[in-house]
Amino acid sequence: MITKIEHIGIAVKDLEERIAFYRDVLGLSLEGREELPERKLRIAVFNLNGVRIELLEPTSPDSNIAAFIEKRGEGLHHIAFGDDDVKGTLHRLSEAGIGLIDREPRPGAAGTKIAFLDPKSTFRVLMELCEKA
Ligand code: ZN
Repeated sequence: MITKIEHIGIAVKDLEERIAFYRDVLGLSLEGREELPERKLRIAVFNLNGVRIELLEPTSPDSNIAAFIEKRGEGLHHIAFGDDDVKGTLHRLSEAGIGLIDREPRPGAAGTKIAFLDPKSTFRVLMELCEKA
């Protein structure tokens, strides 16, 4: 069951410049930075009362985020819902005819299980389901 907004993913060209905006201009508190070499990303995480904002900077031109920025520019990339049973939700959505990018949950950051839905089925909003370990 989907229970909350877990995080919001935002594609950025330059992580340090965008950190300066979110931290110094908006006044949000930076929780940390992470390197995700397997996804060819560097990320910065802000935590706003339990809702994380993740800035996603591609480290290689062949990363998904680089392709997204090339096509659509910087901006909102995906919304991640906290879900206490990703496998069950995938099954239910599949039965309802919703397209899935991930038919099964796969490992995400920090021991989470994640799955993405096909944005063609979600009215062009890229949605991720995220289950805490
Ligand atoms: Zn995400």
